[in-house]
Amino acid sequence: MSMSHIMWIDCFACKNRYPADSVIFECPECKGPLDIIYNYDEIKKHILRDEFKLAHISHWKYWPFYPIHDLSKIVTLYEGGTPLIPSRDKKSYYFKNEGLNPTGSFKDRGTTIEISHVTEIGVKNIACATTGNMGASIAAYAARAQGVSATFYIPTFASKIKYVQIASYGGKIIPVKGTYEDALNLTRELRRQKGIYLTGDYPYRGEGEKSVGFEIIDQLGWRAPDYIVVPVGNGTLFYGVYKALKELHIIGLLDRIPHIVAVQAKGCSPVVKAFANKKRTFIPARKPKTIASAINCGNPVDGIKALHALYATHGMAVTVTDKEIRAAQKGLGKEGIYAEPGGATAYAGALKLKLPGTVVVLVTGHGLKDPFV
Ligand SMILES: [Zn+2]
Repeated sequence: MSMSHIMWIDCFACKNRYPADSVIFECPECKGPLDIIYNYDEIKKHILRDEFKLAHISHWKYWPFYPIHDLSKIVTLYEGGTPLIPSRDKKSYYFKNEGLNPTGSFKDRGTTIEISHVTEIGVKNIACATTGNMGASIAAYAARAQGVSATFYIPTFASKIKYVQIASYGGKIIPVKGTYEDALNLTRELRRQKGIYLTGDYPYRGEGEKSVGFEIIDQLGWRAPDYIVVPVGNGTLFYGVYKALKELHIIGLLDRIPHIVAVQAKGCSPVVKAFANKKRTFIPARKPKTIASAINCGNPVDGIKALHALYATHGMAVTVTDKEIRAAQKGLGKEGIYAEPGGATAYAGALKLKLPGTVVVLVTGHGLKDPFV
C-alpha cells in the first residue's frame, strides 16, 4: 500500500497539522495528543465489501485502516481474533475476552502496529513507561522483531508478575518509585536529552487498538450493539474503539454508531469526573489509587480524546469502587473467564449501570497477570 492513505498527523488539542512521516509523540507546540488522519477514499479501494465481510477475523484482516506501508515486514504474534463470548448469566451481554491475546492483554493489537512501524523506519532503541501490560507486550514484540532493544520504566505499584513477564522476553526494567506519570516523565526526558524513540499510548498504538472495535462489529454480523463498555486508563483504547466505529461508518460497513461507556476506578477517575461536569478537558488525579493497577493513570495521555469519543457517541461514564471490581471479577469467574482487576473494571461498570439491550463488555487483561489480592 502506498503512503497516500495517511494524509497528515493532527494535534487533537490545538489542531496543528504535521506531515505524515513526522516522528513525534505529542504535539511539539502544545504537548497535546496526536491523531493520524486518513484519506478514506484510498482505504475504500482496498476493501472488497463482500469478501472483506466474510473473511475470518484476525487483527491484520483490517490492514487498510492501519498506518503501515510494507505488509511484508510486519512484526506479529498473531494477535487479535479473540472470542466474543455470550454471557450465560446476563441475557444479551457479551464478553470480548482480550486476555487471550499473545501476551495476555489487548495491548498486543497496538504493539504489532507500533513495532512494525519501528521496524519500517529502522529504529533500534525504544523506551516505554508502563503499568506492566504494555511493557510485557512491547518486550515480546521487540524480541520478535530482533535487534530492537527495549527499556521499561515501571511504577513499583505494578503487579510483580508483569516484571517477570517483561524480563522473560529480554526487556530491561527500571522500577520507578512514584506514579505512572512519574515514569512517563522519565521517558519524556530521555526523548528530550537523547532522542530515544518512545513507545506507549501514542498515535501508532492507538491505530492498532482500533481492531477491538472492528472485530466486535464483525462478530455481531456487521451490526452495532447498543453499548460497548470500555475501561479507561490513558483513554487510548477508548478512543481507538470509537475511531474504528467511525471509520466503519464512513466507509459504509456500519449503519449506526453505538454508545460507548467509559469506566474508571473511583480512586483514579479524571475522565469520568470531567464528563460529569460536561467538560472537554480534565483535571489530573494527584494521588491515583486503585487495585486496578493496569488503569491507574492519573493524567491520561489520551484523556481529551476519550472525552471527545464520549460526547460523539452520546456515551456514559461511571466510576466503580475496588470492591465492585472484585465482585465483577468473581462474576466473570462464574462465567469461566479469569480477568485481572483492570480487566474486570468494565464489567463492574456495566453491572452498576444495569445497561439494557445488546451490551459488549471488554475484558482487557488475563487474571494470571495480577493474581494476588
Ligand atoms: Zn497542539
